[in-house]
Amino acid sequence: MDKLNINEFSKQKVLFYSDKLSGFDFGPAHPFKPSRAKHMMDLLSRYSLLNAKNQQIIAPEPVHEDLLYLFHTREYIELLKRAGQTEFSIDMLKAGLGTEDNPIVPGIYDFSRTAAGGTHRGAVMLAAGDADIVFNPIGGFHHAGTDHAEGFCYINDCAIAIADMLRKGKRVAYIDIDVHFGNGVRDAYASCSDVLTVSIHESGDTIYPWSGFQNDTGVGPGRGYTVNIPLLQGSDDEVFLYAFESIVPPLVGAFKPDIVVAVLGADIHREDPLGHLNVTSYGYEKAVRIIRDISPRLLATGGGGYNVYKTAALWALAWAAICGLEPVDNYAGLVGGMMYGPEAQSGSLRDKPYLASGDFKTKCFEHARDVVAYLKQNVFPVHGL
Ligand SMILES: [Zn+2]
Repeated sequence: MDKLNINEFSKQKVLFYSDKLSGFDFGPAHPFKPSRAKHMMDLLSRYSLLNAKNQQIIAPEPVHEDLLYLFHTREYIELLKRAGQTEFSIDMLKAGLGTEDNPIVPGIYDFSRTAAGGTHRGAVMLAAGDADIVFNPIGGFHHAGTDHAEGFCYINDCAIAIADMLRKGKRVAYIDIDVHFGNGVRDAYASCSDVLTVSIHESGDTIYPWSGFQNDTGVGPGRGYTVNIPLLQGSDDEVFLYAFESIVPPLVGAFKPDIVVAVLGADIHREDPLGHLNVTSYGYEKAVRIIRDISPRLLATGGGGYNVYKTAALWALAWAAICGLEPVDNYAGLVGGMMYGPEAQSGSLRDKPYLASGDFKTKCFEHARDVVAYLKQNVFPVHGL
């Protein structure tokens, strides 16, 4: 456990959650399961992580429609509204709606708007000083584009919240640890120097969205404000943390944001069925703590995570970390106590340590060193580093 800063206990922490949102269903064959958030809530209760006086749970409400247009086109939102009523027309396919990844599901417009509402309200609370740390587990839809859905994302809650904070004169750093490159947010702010976007992810050579390489550093006035840290598949905690710690704290420190928006995707975990990294709860938790420590105010979102139980456990650890709490198992030692998925086997939210080795590990490390060297040479000088 890291040293607790006494200030942690005076900070206001807000968790966005509702059974309605976590009960939304994309269908049995779809990997995106909002129910992960419900499992996380069960774990937060079990591990005594919701009892602090400075914590608040708020049910998200749909974001105001006007705010959608800070990022999305009107044409696309019209299509999404119709898709939410399970209408279908061929122009929806061109907007990514009705595909295998982004099916037309009854209520999808309301679901996406409500998820975005949590993230946006969190941003407003942070900007107003009504909260210091916010977590919206069903948020972080970082792939959605201005005029299309992709990668299970229909409304880009992060891009919208950032746009509104920019209007309020805030400087925003975006830190994305999801296994997939946060292409939608990158595209939104690639030419903007008021937003620093940093994404660490599995290389686009082996995973969707097939982009996010280190030489994409932004466009025009935004050059040096888009930062990509691609890792080879199989990279473990050591490689992940080496790359993350080498790049993220110095850059965010130099940028001096007012607010940090984070996507805490749990699909970097080695047991995730879609991602191919070898990160465990150790690397995940450490990265979340670093993000907490470098964020004057933090708007955290859940992002991806397709191993339902592992995602719930990692998000519970993330909430504990950002609240400065240590999980305490209320059921420990109870015979016939509550059994909870695979976690029942280990009796802990945390994984056993894992370290890759051999030539494979060497290759992952060499790649990460090359990426870090490239960014130090090409991006750090822009920030006076
Ligand atoms: Zn992802």
